[in-house]
Order: sequence, then C-alpha cells, then structure tokens
Amino acid sequence: MSLFCDVALAVPLDMVFTYAIPPGMEPVVGGRVLVPFRQQRLSGIVVELHDRPPQVVASQVAASQIKIKKVIEALDLSPVLDEQLLKLGKWIADYYLAPVGEVFRTMLPLSAEFKRSVAYRITDAGRMALHLAGMSGSPARSKRTPDEQLVEFRVLDYLAERESVREERLRGATGVGRALLLGMARKKWIAREDVSAARDAARMVKVAVLLAAEERAEALPPLDGRGARPHTSTVDTTAKKLNDNQRTLIETLAASGGRLPVEALRGLDVPRTTLGTLVRRGLIQLVDEPQDLTGSVSKLKPRQSPFEFEFSAAQKEALAKIGEAVASRRFAGLLLHGITGSGKTAVYLACMRQVLDAGRSSILLVPEIGLTPAVAADLHQVFGDEVAILHSGLSAAERAEQWHRIRRGAARVVAGTRSAVFAPVSDLALIIVDEEQDSSYKQEETPRYHARDVAVMRAKMAGAVVVLGSATPSLESYYNAKKNKYALVELPDRVEMRPLPEVEIVDMRQEFQETGQEQVISRKLAEEIRERLAKKEQVMVLLNRRGYSPVVLCRACGKTLQCKNCAVSMTHHKRERKMECHYCGHIKRIPDKCAQCGSEYVYFVGTGSEKLEELLHGMFPQARIGRLDRDTVRGREDFEHALNALNEGALDMLVGTQMIAKGHDIHGVTLVGVIGADMALGLPDFRAAERTFQLLTQVAGRAGRGQSPGKVVLQTYFQDHYAVQFAARHDFAGFYEKELQFRAWMHYPPYSAIANVLIRSEKLDDALTWSGELGRWFEKTRHEGIRVLGPAAAPITRLKRDYRYHFILKSPSREKMNALLRTMLAEAAARKIPRTQMIVDVDAVWLM
Ligand code: ADP
Ligand code: ZN
Ligand code: ZN
Repeated sequence: MSLFCDVALAVPLDMVFTYAIPPGMEPVVGGRVLVPFRQQRLSGIVVELHDRPPQVVASQVAASQIKIKKVIEALDLSPVLDEQLLKLGKWIADYYLAPVGEVFRTMLPLSAEFKRSVAYRITDAGRMALHLAGMSGSPARSKRTPDEQLVEFRVLDYLAERESVREERLRGATGVGRALLLGMARKKWIAREDVSAARDAARMVKVAVLLAAEERAEALPPLDGRGARPHTSTVDTTAKKLNDNQRTLIETLAASGGRLPVEALRGLDVPRTTLGTLVRRGLIQLVDEPQDLTGSVSKLKPRQSPFEFEFSAAQKEALAKIGEAVASRRFAGLLLHGITGSGKTAVYLACMRQVLDAGRSSILLVPEIGLTPAVAADLHQVFGDEVAILHSGLSAAERAEQWHRIRRGAARVVAGTRSAVFAPVSDLALIIVDEEQDSSYKQEETPRYHARDVAVMRAKMAGAVVVLGSATPSLESYYNAKKNKYALVELPDRVEMRPLPEVEIVDMRQEFQETGQEQVISRKLAEEIRERLAKKEQVMVLLNRRGYSPVVLCRACGKTLQCKNCAVSMTHHKRERKMECHYCGHIKRIPDKCAQCGSEYVYFVGTGSEKLEELLHGMFPQARIGRLDRDTVRGREDFEHALNALNEGALDMLVGTQMIAKGHDIHGVTLVGVIGADMALGLPDFRAAERTFQLLTQVAGRAGRGQSPGKVVLQTYFQDHYAVQFAARHDFAGFYEKELQFRAWMHYPPYSAIANVLIRSEKLDDALTWSGELGRWFEKTRHEGIRVLGPAAAPITRLKRDYRYHFILKSPSREKMNALLRTMLAEAAARKIPRTQMIVDVDAVWLM
C-alpha cells in the first residue's frame, strides 16, 4: 500500500499536489479522491501512487515537521479515467499548456456527483442469508444470532425492500458504521457500487411480459422481498380459470405483442393486485428494462433506412477502405472528402455498424448544432439501445448517466459533440469527425483543445482509425492529406447523380445603382422565391446575423450605441423589445434618444434575421415562414420543431443564421438565398476566406437534395473575391490551391503553428503594462524560428469589461513555439502577472 498520492486538481496551476493516504483507504490511479485544498474540499484525479515524501520535506526540513494533508475520501473503487484517457489528458495538458486537473475535469462529465459516490444493494447471497435466518423480526433469529449479525440482518432487511440505497441513507436508517458495511460487502451479501450506476438502475422501468405456454412451467417468479419463494409457480396455472380482471390484463398484453411497461397497465380499470396474482401464477413475468432515454430524441418519422438503398460505387469504395483500415488494428487517418449530398452519413453509419458487429466501439463527433434530428433518428434506427447520444440538451445528471452507460459497455456506439471524444469506450476501433472543419470543435475556454486533433491523437494511442469527413475540409486537414499524412477518400458526386445546384451571383453594388437604394432582397432573389412558392417548392434564406438591426446610430452626432462592457454595437431585437450585446449578453432598453447628445434622431441600421423574416412576410404574405437562429431556438426541441415543420411541408420558407446551413437533408428545398454571407470577408482574420467559402458551400448544399434540381442565389458585395467565385463554381480544389498560396506567403497554418496570447484586465493600465512588459521580454529573448507579432490591441479591444491586448506567435516548429510559451508563462509568473489574466490559445481558431 502506498503512502502518498499525487492528485490533479481543477485549479489554474500547472502542477499536481501530493497528499498522504490514511491507513485503510485505497485510492486508485485514475480514480477520484476528495482532498482539502486551501479552505475548500475539492475532488481530483489520482495520477500516481508512491512512497516518496513531497520534495520540500526531503530537501528543507525534517519530514516530521511538515504536515502533509491527508486525503479525505477515496471516491471511486475503480478508475474513472483508464490508462489511455489519462495519457490523452496529459498530452492535452502539454500540447495546449493547460493545467492537467482542468483537462481531467473537462474529460469527465461527473461534476454532478462528486460528493458521495457509493450505494449498496442486496445480493442474492444476502437474500439467501436473510431467508435462512427466517422472517424479519422473528424472535427465533434474535435469540440465536450474535449482536453483530443482528445488525447485519437489520441492513439486509432494509435493503431487501429497496433497489439501491446511498451509503449515508443506509447508515442513517440502520445506525451501522462503514466498517460493517465493508465487511458485508466482502461476504458478498451486499454490493457496493457507484452512485450514478445506481441512479441508472433507478431509471429502469418494470415491464410486464406475457409468458408463452411452454415457458410458463419453468418461469419462476422472482424471490420476493423476504426471500421466500412463493410455491404457486409449480402449479399448472393455465388450467385455472381467469377472472375478468385477469383476462383484461392478459388480453391487453397479448394485443401489444406480449410486453408493456407496468406503468401502462395501470391505465386499465383493473385492481393493482391483479398483476401480482398473475405474476405469482407464472403467467406474467416482470423484468427490468432501461428506460427509453431515446424517446425524446426523435419525434421524426424515420427516414428511409440508411441501408435500404444500393450504395454508390464511391460509397462502397470508401466503406471498403475504412473497413480495411479498421481491420488492420493499426492507427490510420482518412480524410473523407464528399461533396454535399454525396451520402457521407450513410458511409459513417455503415462503418460503425461493422465495428459494432465486430464487438468493438466507435465514436461519431458532430458539430454543436450538427446533430440534426434526422441523424439522431438514423442512429437509433441502426443501433437501437447500443447508441449513447451526448448532446447539449442533456442535464449534468443525464450526461453522467450516459457516461456510466458507456463505461459499463451498455452503449458501444457514441455520438456527440466535442467532449464525446473522451467517451470511456473500451476497444475503440473508429472515431469519425463529421464536418471536421467546424470551429465548434475548438473549446473556447481552458483547456482550449480541438476535438478533431484530440480525436486523431486518441486514435493514435488506441491503434484506431480516425475518419475526418467534410464537404469542405479545413486547410489543415486537406494539406495533411496532400502530404499523405491522411489517406484521401473522395465522394465526388451526389447520390443518384443528382446535380449540384446552379449558383447565380447577384452583385449588390450594381443592385444599389440600378434601384437607387440599399436592398436587402434583390429583385432576382425575390423573383426566384416567387417562382418556387408558386410551384409549392421550399426555400431557405441565410443571413448570418441574428436580431433585428445590428446598429443603432445617432444621425445628429454619429455615435452608435455600444455595450458598456464591450467595444461592440448593441443589436436591436424588435419582438423582445430590447438592445442586446451578442458578446456578453448585456441587455438595455431601446433608446428613444441619443445617450450622447440627446438628439431624437436615432436610426436603426442594417438587417438581421428577425428583420429579414419580417421583410419576407411583407413580400410574400401568403407564405408560411419559419426562422431558425439563437433567438427562436431556445432548446433542442425548437430546433427539431422547425426542421420537422419544413420536412413535413408545414413551412414554405425557412430563414436563419448558419444554423440552417449545416447538414440538414430536406428534399423539398430547391432554392437557397444567401444574404450577406460574405460579411466575414471584412473581418481582420486570416481564416475569413476559408470560413466564407465553407459557409457558402454548406448552405448551397442544402438546395436540390431531392428529385428536383436546386438553385442558389448568392447576393454579395465582394463578387470578385476568390472565396465567392470558387464557391459559386463548386471548385474546391481551386479554392484550396489559392488559399494555400496565401497561407504560405503569410506564414499561417498549415505552414506554421500559431498561438494567440491574450492579456486582459478590467483596468486598462494593467492590460497595457503587462502586455508591454511581455513585449519587451519577447524582444530581448532570442527565439529563433519563431515570429512574435504584438503587442497589439485585440480586434475586439474590450470584451466583457476586459481591455485586451494580444500577441500572435507563428512558427514552423510547434515544439519550439510551445517551449517559448512555457518560458513566457514562467516569466509572467515571476513578474506577478496573474495567470487568470492571460489566455494562451494554441492553434487558435479565432484571433478576435
Ligand atoms: P451528405 O452528408 O454527404 O451531405 P447524406 O449522407 O445526408 O449526405 O445523404 C444525402 C441523402 O442521400 C440522404 O437522404 C441519404 O439517405 C441519401 N442517400 C445516401 N446514400 C444513398 C444511395 N446510395 N442511394 C440513394 N440515396 C442515398
Ligand atoms: Zn447623438
Ligand atoms: Zn457586451
């Protein structure tokens, strides 16, 4: 038994902490312990067990003089992070310069249950012991058993009537100590288990199963609470007559395929005891089944099964290549570049099916809002109960429950957003990252990991296969494929050879000149919409900006209404009658005069999705229009609701932000209008062209997925920009070539690793001083092969009250860059720049 353990705590310090292990306690590596830290109690992950006293003790004072704090409690009986996940966590901590304890916290969705984690349930052996000792409370027993056993029977009695009881409750009710419970567990009379596993069990539902005649003889009803086995089971019950109530029950069950949740039978006008009688007579058996957590997910009518169609030659080839790689049981990376509507999802599902049939596990990662109801429905159709879906709508407790299901091996197919990459599956064979270019894979808080890159690393560590799928791969992944780091697999055509939509560009500068005023909807787009509506076809219109008007301007003094916490304009939300900052959420009342000069000439300028919807209503009063953006979509349900409405033809038109662009497969949409999707081109961000190209391609991909061909009307102020031009021509290769040239010239990824170092403070002075100090330090330290740009004011100079300055580091050598960042952090610590006021973002996705 070890004397000490090193614990990773979720605190912003780049170190682990050593604690003494009290005698009799057995923490495990990869398991959680509760420890004192400063004035708090924190749970952390044990990373090492050892007998080395902490270093301060060895070097400075006699061991006896330093009091090493003790572990308060070991929370887990077995590791919650296995060896591979521990290793992965350490890699993330190292690569992204994040405290390892914070990494582990991100990997474990167990925050909801860190306090106590043990519950007990009675075992069959326990029931047997209870049974042999006679009925509870029988005086015979109390005479014959020693005191301790008497207490044990009290525990057994208590547990016999219940499913699973938390330790505190059990001890409270029976007055026993932990040692006694542990002793009983050793005798196997009771089982000790993690609380959420128990909570999981509580989620089981009782199902009544009608037994077939031949089964009836063998079926023994379960032991009842006192361990006495009713003797009626041996009697031939079928001969006995059923009364009316019993017949009703049996007939109801028979009519619904022989099984129904007990809850459902309660609806019948039959006394509760009837069911019990039938169970005792051996006609019906009660079984526990996991509650169908999936019920809420898919209200959608299942689509055609993903396997009802014949796979295209390209799909078959992709499937074969992935299958081969998986079978080799060695790491391999594949980039699946399939144009929109080429049937990538079907390939994913088929691969995952193969993996499951081989008894192994797979993970499908999807972007934040990419897990469309249709895909969730497909997953359930193909994998039934074997799939665990981790989406943002889950509560902390539900998330923990799914986590336990996965760890128990009850779900070997996992689908989910970013953090699903940490799913505790065993024998991982395949990770698929759908829409791998999506920026939601990057976590924008510590640890700032990129789930795609973590997926690749996890696959490497597990000897598994990683498939990065996209119609518009990131420059990084495409470059890796070109350099043969990944095998490139292509699906170059839409299924059933449906054509890609024709894209027509409308130059909005010309539209302005010809109509003499600023237009939101061009004449061309209006005309096309009218045509589609007349033909009863459906339309999507993208405007990637929510709210009614993005700017409120005073015509007298020229001031715009800015957020008091951020250097950005507040957005007018008409229906909700408020001004809102989209960066910090600050809300203000709508101004009737200028706060600066008091003038009443305040104007609402520009158009967001709310206003667009209103404009379209005005132009097409007879059309049924829905809107999809973060204002209309409060939860997952709203999102599904809008998509289902479109799918079922209850809507003619859907307007919205990028939410409408991703992954949806709605066959009735033949026209996609794009309004101001090129706004990003004006931003000071080197990925602006890439993002614009991707968004345009994605949204264009929503058109013409059914029998009728699609069309896209793309309104732009940047009609000559190569991102717009290449997207309009569906020319991926052309765009990538051009963009790669630009990246090479500018030393941007994929040719350089980059990191964004941001210094922030509510006090302008501090932000300036600290960034100035670091700037001078960067200047005078030599760092060959690394470019340091800055300090400069960040593009958003003030955000959530903080003033912001930043540096951008670029280097072809990631090792050198990370080494410099580490030295810089040490330097900053020496200069007393608070760690919390610095953000180090390795592989930054946003430089704003
Ligand atoms: P992607 O994800 O590549 O945009 P999807 O996987 O959503 O494309 O497939 C587009 C549509 O084509 C879906 O409705 C899907 O069910 C259907 N589909 C996929 N493969 C085939 C096939 N081989 N034959 C016919 N339809 C297919
Ligand atoms: Zn004014
Ligand atoms: Zn703000």
